[in-house]
Amino acid sequence: MIELPEAAVLAEQINEIVVGKKIKNVIAAHTPHKLTWYFGDPQEYKSLLTGKVISEAASYGGQVEITADKAKLLFSDGVNLRYCRRCDKRPDRHQLLLEFDDASYMVGWVQMYGGLSAFPEGENDNKYYLIAKEKPSPLSDDFDEIYFKSLFDEGATKLSLKAFLATEQRIPGLGNGVLQDILFNAKMHPKKKTGTLSAGDRRLLFDSIKNTLSEMTAMGGRDTENDLLGRPGAYKTRLSKNTIGQPCPLCDTLIEKEAYLGGSIYYCAGCQRI
Ligand SMILES: [Zn+2]
Repeated sequence: MIELPEAAVLAEQINEIVVGKKIKNVIAAHTPHKLTWYFGDPQEYKSLLTGKVISEAASYGGQVEITADKAKLLFSDGVNLRYCRRCDKRPDRHQLLLEFDDASYMVGWVQMYGGLSAFPEGENDNKYYLIAKEKPSPLSDDFDEIYFKSLFDEGATKLSLKAFLATEQRIPGLGNGVLQDILFNAKMHPKKKTGTLSAGDRRLLFDSIKNTLSEMTAMGGRDTENDLLGRPGAYKTRLSKNTIGQPCPLCDTLIEKEAYLGGSIYYCAGCQRI
């Protein structure tokens, strides 16, 4: 899944590698996929994008936005995005392929679910997109302790930390994947209730959100995800499918996995308290 670190890394790579390229051809919705979300009719993407030049990329939460003249492209959730300069064989299955005039191409495909959209600037009123653009990024100075405190409204006190941090777009781009190490670093269990946090705990959690996401981004994303060139990120996840059953790096308790709130949580029962 694209979450905040991966979106930031993809946008940076697109700015380095793809900006300046002219779109020669577009193939949209090539492979039918029920859980791929498009903006409008994907068959119109070809006329919208052909001839346009990629001018910049940016990330908002877990979404990657690309500008091509007055058109925008948007990628989110479970989209895999790859750029290929010299590839003999194109992937068989994809939902969006942009061919550039130097014969290189960028291709996007969805595994479980995800969004691939192209639209004229200003026309996408999808609320997840607008919220992600509007709210401050945890990597920015605007996401400070005062802002973080404002997220703890009355309803939040009954929520578990997983529900509080990784649902409802409270912090766009902070999803179930990056949540695991954020909570491990804060030594808090995903089921711990938000209302039980002391002022010191809140500060600890705030610091962990900032530090963990910064580290993941600086390392080129998590080792469970691939970048624009198909390489896994260099950030070694402490809690993920890669470390389940292994001893905790701090206390040697074996790392556990459990289904909780529509996704797996990983934790060390020795370090992380409810
Ligand atoms: Zn531990």
